Amino acid sequence: MALNSEYNVPSPDDRITVVCLYCSRPQEVGRKAMSITCKHCSKALKLEDIPFNTYAARRTIETCGLVTVEKKGNVVADKIHCGGMIVRGKVKGKILSRGPVLVGPEAEIKGDVTAPTIAVGAGAVLEGRYQIGSPPVGQ
Ligand SMILES: [Zn+2]
Repeated sequence: MALNSEYNVPSPDDRITVVCLYCSRPQEVGRKAMSITCKHCSKALKLEDIPFNTYAARRTIETCGLVTVEKKGNVVADKIHCGGMIVRGKVKGKILSRGPVLVGPEAEIKGDVTAPTIAVGAGAVLEGRYQIGSPPVGQ
């Protein structure tokens, strides 16, 4: 990318707007960027989607992208802070999502969930407190 590219008119295809997980402020980034430093609060932000297909234990999972837990995925984390989430397997941890959370019919979530919207398939197991509708406050 040329150094002066910021002066060009960006085409809608190669820029996306990302809302910072930490300060909740939006900024435009290149679609293919995997990580950025927030220009407002200077924190490092991951942008990539993170899929889980197996057992995974993490302290925190943080990305502005989409976290997907497939049927064979079993994710244990203190906190999952993400731009959106799709759960088809098991998740144990506190979920803070800036975008919709989709829960498949065989999914199992143990932990508190905060998200603007949630869609739950019949049969999913949910244990925890759910705060749906209000966007999470930056923390
Ligand atoms: Zn920020």
